[in-house]
Amino acid sequence: MNPSGEAREKTFRRERALEDPSNFRGIDTCALCGSGKRRERFEEGIFSVVECTSCGLVYVTPRLRSEALPLVYGEGYWSSESPKDRGYADYRSEAPLYLATFERRMTLVRRHRKKPGRALDIGCAAGFFLRVLRDHGWKVSGVELSPEIGAMAVEALGGEAIHLGTLDGAPFEKEAYDLVSLWDVIEHVEEPVPFLEEAASFLKPDGILILETQNIDSLFARVLGPKWQHFKHLEHLYHFSPRTIRRLFQEAGLEVLESTSRFGGKYINIGFLRERATRVHPILSFLLLPLKPFDGFRFYANPRDEMVLVGRRTP
Ligand SMILES: [Zn+2]
Repeated sequence: MNPSGEAREKTFRRERALEDPSNFRGIDTCALCGSGKRRERFEEGIFSVVECTSCGLVYVTPRLRSEALPLVYGEGYWSSESPKDRGYADYRSEAPLYLATFERRMTLVRRHRKKPGRALDIGCAAGFFLRVLRDHGWKVSGVELSPEIGAMAVEALGGEAIHLGTLDGAPFEKEAYDLVSLWDVIEHVEEPVPFLEEAASFLKPDGILILETQNIDSLFARVLGPKWQHFKHLEHLYHFSPRTIRRLFQEAGLEVLESTSRFGGKYINIGFLRERATRVHPILSFLLLPLKPFDGFRFYANPRDEMVLVGRRTP
């Protein structure tokens, strides 16, 4: 079989596994407080979005079994045919937008760490944040589960700097980092408490951890209801609120230094908006065609439905 035929076969097997009911399991207890009591928020297909009535954590049940979960993050995730349900339309081609977004977020980093040091980005994808940090004088390491996108980080930053695999298998030194970051990662993780504990174990005693995740209590999420773009049930297993994310930090042995929605936005361009509009109705693609010459024009959009938290290990 030629390499592209092999890749196609692999993609086909992955996509089929994601639809196989035997690969899913029901979730009985809350990952934050252990309670089994909950109420349903809404249903979509085989999935229920439920809220723990004890601590308020919102989570999805059923979910893919642990063995099958990494299948979500193949090539079909980074150049997705249905980004509304899963992944990104074309993550790699948006490099300039991600670099600009992370450049803006450096303001937050500098607020807590004036001088560059050592940084570990967990779920580093194509390594965009690490490239920005490196350009600011940081020494960088990254962990990425998906080899399809992680290859781009390896290419930019070298194989020594990037671990392609799980966090617990990462060969990096514990208690050695001034900054550990998790951008849009924690909502994808099966067991967020031990995962965040593990992430924090890489911090120096005075190091800071920066975490971003979507906020289910935000005005934007409440107005959109089940249509909120962050309800992607295969990948977003949890939906935190300001209250439950603080509880998570506490359970993982971290104290919160700052929580803000200011740095949760991203740069988008007219091309991105035209693509989104086409998803709503094909006619919009025709109506917005006169804007095509301005596709590259970019601006910062922040619907304030993401939270960025800065924390440190509780002394
Ligand atoms: Zn709970």
